Amino acid sequence: MSSSVALRLPSIDGLLRHPACAPLAERYGRDSLLTGLRQLLDELRPDVLSGQLAAVEIGPEVLAGRVGERLAQQQRRQVRRVFNLTGTVLHTNLGRALLPEEAIEAVQTAARYPLNLEFDLASGKRGDRDDLIEGLIRELTGAEAVTVVNNNAAAVLLTLNSLGARKEGIISRGELIEIGGAFRIPDIMARAGVRLHEVGTTNRTHARDYQAAIGPRSGLIMRVHASNYSIEGFTARVATAELAELAHAHGLPLLEDLGSGSLLDLTRWGLPAEPTVRQALLDGADIVTFSGDKLLGGPQAGLIVGRKELIAKIKKNPLKRALRVDKLTLAALEAVLGLYRDPDRLAERLPSLRLLTRPQADIHAQALRLQPLLADVLGEVWQVSAVEALGMIGSGSQPVARLPSAALCCRPQVSKRWRGRYLLNLEAALRGLPIPVLGRIGDDALWLDLRQLDDEPAWLAQLPQLQVDR
Ligand SMILES: *Cc1c(COP(=O)(O)O)cnc(C)c1O
Repeated sequence: MSSSVALRLPSIDGLLRHPACAPLAERYGRDSLLTGLRQLLDELRPDVLSGQLAAVEIGPEVLAGRVGERLAQQQRRQVRRVFNLTGTVLHTNLGRALLPEEAIEAVQTAARYPLNLEFDLASGKRGDRDDLIEGLIRELTGAEAVTVVNNNAAAVLLTLNSLGARKEGIISRGELIEIGGAFRIPDIMARAGVRLHEVGTTNRTHARDYQAAIGPRSGLIMRVHASNYSIEGFTARVATAELAELAHAHGLPLLEDLGSGSLLDLTRWGLPAEPTVRQALLDGADIVTFSGDKLLGGPQAGLIVGRKELIAKIKKNPLKRALRVDKLTLAALEAVLGLYRDPDRLAERLPSLRLLTRPQADIHAQALRLQPLLADVLGEVWQVSAVEALGMIGSGSQPVARLPSAALCCRPQVSKRWRGRYLLNLEAALRGLPIPVLGRIGDDALWLDLRQLDDEPAWLAQLPQLQVDR
């Protein structure tokens, strides 16, 4: 600090007392302001010392302005709302299912007040958190017993470890799948302490393959719903009912990981058929596992349902304690499950089902309405059209099924070598909006699938802020 130039930077004390900084202290707290000012002055000092920056140019007002921007930036939430216009409804990277109002209210209450999480109000004794939703899940699935953990990956891990540790788990080679995010059945089995005994081939597995694998070291038979891919052509798989019979004849439990699964037959809403939990149990699966935030439309959770003595064993596993759900999840789950008691109104009340069943004509009308507005903002370079598009359910549900939808399709009217750059710039500009807008690039265009554009006013309000190459 020997340089006389550097001394011309305002002092911290002087700045703290300056009227331009007072509102910042008020808003962000004195400590944050002090830290911000110190950092800023430290950064500027070398440039002032070297003469690259004249200290006179950076008076208290300028410094206060810069620190203010920085503090505002720091205070901005990292968990942010976005517009999911990707066309994938249950998008794992975008938080999957959206909760219904009933669940949001339940979460608020659970967050704000003490609750009977593990307290039995009838007896006044200690309770079990699973008891809060057990009745409802039993009613909706026909299961004898239930337990709930943090997600379906945890449900599979816990079930395998509880029922098959140090024994063999028999599974078809056609079901040794990987779900996104490094969830791979062989790895989970290994971590659960279950020795993998794979049978059959990728495309065909017969009852005799399972039969031949059963021996003194067998602990369980597992079946996994091939959520995110499909095997077509020359294929064979054993029906759950037949597999259950085989398992039970040898005293083995049959686990079925449904992945998404569904509590109701979705074809009544015109959606592709997805196996239901009730049917898997009726077919003889002893334990069925499925996600709370896929087609169920609830919070992230893993539901384990099935035979009472097996569930009791699972609940006794110390891992259950490590994988248990929190109170907010339980509150949301109960509220969502409650809606399933009235299937006739489910599609109105459960956002994921409402979005999945939104008619294409409705989406197309919205696209026609918004097309001129977006075209106007994007300018001459972009050709914006309201077109039919195909979306997806997502989260590994029905990977080959497509949801007829409509999109705003934005094509840059530039030579081929510039198209990629224009598309990436538009994509980044949309991401840079106050509520980031996420679409998808394909076929030399950027697509905004409008199936999930519920909050049209908020989307329109920020459109003027879009900065694009013109
Ligand atoms: C999605 C899925 C899982 C993992 O479920 P999460 O809830 O994401 O943990 C496991 N198995 C199958 C078959 C799945 O589809």
